[in-house]
Amino acid sequence: EEAAKAAAAVADTGAPTIFDKIIAKEIPSTIVYEDEKVLAFRDISPQAPVHVLVIPKLRDGLTHLGKAEEKHSEILGWLLYAAKVVAEKEGILDGFRVVINSGPTACQSVYHLHLHVLGGRQMKWPPG
Ligand code: ADP
Repeated sequence: EEAAKAAAAVADTGAPTIFDKIIAKEIPSTIVYEDEKVLAFRDISPQAPVHVLVIPKLRDGLTHLGKAEEKHSEILGWLLYAAKVVAEKEGILDGFRVVINSGPTACQSVYHLHLHVLGGRQMKWPPG
């Protein structure tokens, strides 16, 4: 399908992404949670009543999960914990989904690692 093909065409160049500008607050976002290590903000194109992105403030080579190294294990764990904090704040602890699209074949379009936290409706399985 066309939208999936377009997203699949985006490659990991290592260039700065729009998320740097969101972290720097140079472009607006609706922040849901923030600490010294991570930022969580509402997705501009929500796929569920709750759709929040959780990102590391320091990309540190993590353009996508496929670039993860042992040194990233602490931030990876913190991102997952932050996803739970977001789910709690959003009132969706009864059921929520955490998604990481890693690489072009998974339709990643922004090359700064991010967790999608989705909820507020009945989720289906499998995802497309
Ligand atoms: P996909 O675009 O296929 O969902 P990703 O997993 O890379 O791939 O997700 C990037 C997400 O970033 C998208 O859900 C998109 O809506 C979101 N996004 C892009 N720009 C912004 C922005 N300025 N503010 C909030 N969310 C954004």
